[in-house]
Amino acid sequence: MQSDNSGNGNQKQKSNKTHRFKIAPKKKSQAAKSGNNAKKPVQAKQIKTVSKTRPVKQKKQIKPERQSKAAGLISQAKQTSRIRHQDYVPGKDLKIIPLGGLGEIGKNMTAFEYGNDMIIVDVGMSFPDENMPGVDCVIPDFTYVRRNQSKLRGIVLTHGHEDHIGSLPYFLREFQCPVYGGTMTIELVRLKLQDKNVPLDGIKLTTCRNGDNIRLGNYFDVEFIRVNHSIADSYALAIRTPVGVVVHSGDFKIDFTPINGKTINLQRFGELGKEGVLMFMCESTNIEIDGFSPSEKHVGEAFSHYFRKAEGRIIVATFSSHVHRMQQIIAAAEKYGRHVCLSGRSMVQVFGIANSMGYIDIKPDTLIDIESIDNYPDDQIVILTTGSQAEPMSALTRMAFDSHRSVDIQKGDTIIISADPIPGNEKPIYRVINELYKKGAHVIYQSLADVHVSGHAYRNELMMLHTLIKPQFLIPVHGEYRMLCLHKEMAMNLGMDEDNICILANGDILSLNPYEARVTDHVTANPVLIDGSNAMDCNDKVLNDRIHLSEDGVVSIALTIDSVSGDLICPPSVNSIGLLDSADNKDAIHGAIAEKCEALLTQAGRRDGSIEAFTEKRAFREHLKNFISSKIGRKPMILCNISRIDTDYYDRYYGDT
Ligand SMILES: [Zn+2]
Ligand SMILES: [Zn+2]
Repeated sequence: MQSDNSGNGNQKQKSNKTHRFKIAPKKKSQAAKSGNNAKKPVQAKQIKTVSKTRPVKQKKQIKPERQSKAAGLISQAKQTSRIRHQDYVPGKDLKIIPLGGLGEIGKNMTAFEYGNDMIIVDVGMSFPDENMPGVDCVIPDFTYVRRNQSKLRGIVLTHGHEDHIGSLPYFLREFQCPVYGGTMTIELVRLKLQDKNVPLDGIKLTTCRNGDNIRLGNYFDVEFIRVNHSIADSYALAIRTPVGVVVHSGDFKIDFTPINGKTINLQRFGELGKEGVLMFMCESTNIEIDGFSPSEKHVGEAFSHYFRKAEGRIIVATFSSHVHRMQQIIAAAEKYGRHVCLSGRSMVQVFGIANSMGYIDIKPDTLIDIESIDNYPDDQIVILTTGSQAEPMSALTRMAFDSHRSVDIQKGDTIIISADPIPGNEKPIYRVINELYKKGAHVIYQSLADVHVSGHAYRNELMMLHTLIKPQFLIPVHGEYRMLCLHKEMAMNLGMDEDNICILANGDILSLNPYEARVTDHVTANPVLIDGSNAMDCNDKVLNDRIHLSEDGVVSIALTIDSVSGDLICPPSVNSIGLLDSADNKDAIHGAIAEKCEALLTQAGRRDGSIEAFTEKRAFREHLKNFISSKIGRKPMILCNISRIDTDYYDRYYGDT
């Protein structure tokens, strides 16, 4: 299963099963020349590690060691000196195994394995779709990690969005290994682990910054490279391995005027490009959009415009993790003499973290308690809230449907939804917007105004990073299938050889060496559905039953039989849920179903064994379903309950007087 057969002559044997990404002809001749004693063609020069950490200006620095007792061991990345990573041993390939995030946007997770070492980049989750009723979240399949647990050296996180850290509580309950990520990322992870009651004892959380280089096991060095994105402290990674350098873009955009002044470290990408990058794993989210994405600053200008015009209260809904957006809302509020209050648990939590890290610039009297908003005039209020995706329990949804503890929407309120709908989630958002309008509010959302910009690179930004990095091989990641294909086309337009671009699926094992990349195997990587404390797969009977129930309702039939004779001793009692609405009609249909059921049982007689055995048979249910379908056009789920009664007992006890 995990055979590593590159360069050992048995590739042909597998060729009917494996997809092969060939090397560009030029490199091939290089490989041919070197023969078995392959020299290292990719990174000719050893470069010095960038192991300096620029001090970040912070108002208040958190003291990780102080929190270590209560919240796991938090330390700062050690700047280890660079190790070799120049010596490709023929036959020993790097394995890249995406366990989530390909063919989808969500639950990003990739394992990198060399020899006895394995590291994991991101452990994300995704949200359930409409075919997963009742499911809380969807996480990657950890089977491969479970099988190779002894090799696990650490988890590296690119940033703190749910699709990159959301599955960590499930992962860390099962596996123990150190976790590395940016400051904000690590703080969000700590919060998440506490929320999910994951014991933090012994979990080592390490904060990393731009330029930090961490060594994991004997074979991996990981360098953090700052990028811009819709959450603070986002990083791309340069992963040095014995076969060459792999650059993982993480989620990124190029913002020349970011809110905190820290632009993406393009210079470093250029240096890596010069050094020679073997593999580039690059996000594909906005590959369909031409040009450059607007700067986050752009949103600040839009806020200024709307804040100046608004006469009543202003309510802004955005992602709580978007600290830069939060900062811009606070700045606009202060500019127009308004106080800010926070609504929604995660908004309050993330604000607390960001503020304690010095990421928020706010005057002491700007922030007020949401319970005290009635003490201020409407035109001095900004409510910063969660609920931009109309999540059912979120603060904005509760405001819209009159169930918020402190805020009732009133005429004259201006509500700004500062986020794009997550694809497929438009309906509930529009339902909330309609409700807000009904209450007399004025709603500004994406289709009307520039109150949101994407945190993901548009096509030209992707091209810029490609041009700087000039990778030998490419895996487009973080995208639905069409996006991965468009990314491939784009890379080909930039001159990459089609054979060097790997469109992978979750679970593919890609074997990579300086000469070729090919899929050699596949591991199970089906989505795992978390339902309360249970985990299940997409074909689980529980899920199918729920879908069936939600579509067709349920008919329950209670049968009472004589425990001695096995005969039915009274007519079946029928009930239903989610099937019929009118009471009269209900009684009539229930009566008809009872009669049909009795007739089927009588017909069957003793030929089909006991009544219990007969009701277990598929034919019985199918007959009943067809009968119900002929009456009301639906085939509901059928539940049979059988009670056995010892009729002789009553005879003996009461006699027949
Ligand atoms: Zn992200
Ligand atoms: Zn993402």
